[in-house]
Amino acid sequence: METANQARVDALEAEYQSKKVSRDQLAATIPTAIVKEYESIRRARKGTGLTKMAKAGSGYRCTACNVQLPMHVAQQVHQASKVVRCPSCGRILWKGE
Ligand SMILES: [Zn+2]
Repeated sequence: METANQARVDALEAEYQSKKVSRDQLAATIPTAIVKEYESIRRARKGTGLTKMAKAGSGYRCTACNVQLPMHVAQQVHQASKVVRCPSCGRILWKGE
């Protein structure tokens, strides 16, 4: 019994470590400044640092706080040449698929 439990704990620990490694490897491919910015938004916003932008009528809105996004903000998100944050909730906006 003891041995079986210990084996399960070891397996979970190994799984956790391998997931942590792949997350860290992924984070390493993103510029440090962006990862830091994302982490600080995530801390301030209950675990969500990134949100999707959705089409709403003639414009776009932030799916996290539902604010209507100014057209120039939506355009910057589509261009994807820099990190664009929601002017209302501050989360990083993602244009979706
Ligand atoms: Zn927002």
